[in-house]
Amino acid sequence: MYDVNEIRKDFPILERRIGERRLIYLDNAATSQKPRQVLDALDEHYEAHNANIHRAVHRLAEEATAAYEASREKVASFLGAPDARGLIFTRGTTEAMNLVAYAWGRRSLREGDEVVLTEAEHHSNLVPWQLAAQATGARLRFIPIREDGTLDMEEAERLVGPQTKMIGCIHVSNVLGTINPVDELAELAHSVGALMLVDGAQSAPHIPLDLAALGCDFFACSGHKMVGPTGIGVLWGRPEMLEEMDPFLGGGEMIREVYPDHSTWNDLPYKFEAGTMSIAQAIGLGAAVDYLNGLGMESIWEHERRLGEYAYEKIREVEGITVYGPEKNRTGLVSFILPEVHPHDLSQILDQEGIAIRSGHHCAQPLMRRLGVTATARASFYLYNTEEEVDMLVGAVERSREFFGAFTS
Ligand code: PMP
Repeated sequence: MYDVNEIRKDFPILERRIGERRLIYLDNAATSQKPRQVLDALDEHYEAHNANIHRAVHRLAEEATAAYEASREKVASFLGAPDARGLIFTRGTTEAMNLVAYAWGRRSLREGDEVVLTEAEHHSNLVPWQLAAQATGARLRFIPIREDGTLDMEEAERLVGPQTKMIGCIHVSNVLGTINPVDELAELAHSVGALMLVDGAQSAPHIPLDLAALGCDFFACSGHKMVGPTGIGVLWGRPEMLEEMDPFLGGGEMIREVYPDHSTWNDLPYKFEAGTMSIAQAIGLGAAVDYLNGLGMESIWEHERRLGEYAYEKIREVEGITVYGPEKNRTGLVSFILPEVHPHDLSQILDQEGIAIRSGHHCAQPLMRRLGVTATARASFYLYNTEEEVDMLVGAVERSREFFGAFTS
């Protein structure tokens, strides 16, 4: 039985008050809150086991190394990754995307090659490819978004051909909430000998995953969006691909032997983990994964799907509102615009009621242009949000509309 009121007790920050009001935190797509279990894991590491990993043989180093490597195994198994050797710790999704665009892209792309992305990519899966394209002469192509916020898969089939070397796609849009058919795109990529990269920043926290079944070659996500600490995320890559790639960053643990004029590389995954890693944060991510597994990803997803549907239906009742994204097959996130109130003003007014939402371009400016707007307001839910909080949001949005409408009508 999923008892959201019991679950909320694990998150100390949810007790906070913003002025007179209880905090209603609806900015989970930006970052999630952390349960006591994760905070305790961080404290315990620093209080009892803190040491640098891999190199020393003293007791603390052995304990820290074991905890760090146990986290790798936990995260790999959480994602359904076929081989934990391909699980590389990074600072987050952005660093993971850069790793692929630099270490694979710069070595493998040539003039005339194409990288196919979507119109809805987060900048972190667009800008690294722009840089790789500039360096190699490769070209970027974009799968368009249909009016309802879903991918135009017919156009995807037309765009992809023998010149395609990589398809990169957000699993779940951080603006629209659309769940994209990345398994179909992976098949399409493989049918022409290309690779498939999935940005899982907005899927890993919410949807039960099985990377083996998704069939992608690379998958990235961020710990801080899945009840884990900031400064830690992962790239999972097919080990055969990672073996062939150049290192991304040089120094520290990624070497085997170093000579004045050249070096050789460590085995996977260490080849891609240069310098002192975010050790405590990786261990915290392991605790986050334990926490999510304890609740059960199926139950979390069921809760969020129901909450998302409820929010989508409720907010659409507000007069004059435009809500973006598809009606079906979406996650717990609503992006919207009121004709009377700029999204920034709206989020400021809601803040006075203790409600935290986001407004802006959500790091997806090309998608914003496609939608014909400069900004939207976005409320994004997570495992600890409730229907009552959705009601408070919708009530506050309605009051703002009435207040501003009185000046504009
Ligand atoms: N991709 C998507 C879809 C996102 O929502 C985000 C975070 N807003 C990122 C990538 C980047 O994640 P991070 O900042 O943790 O690297």
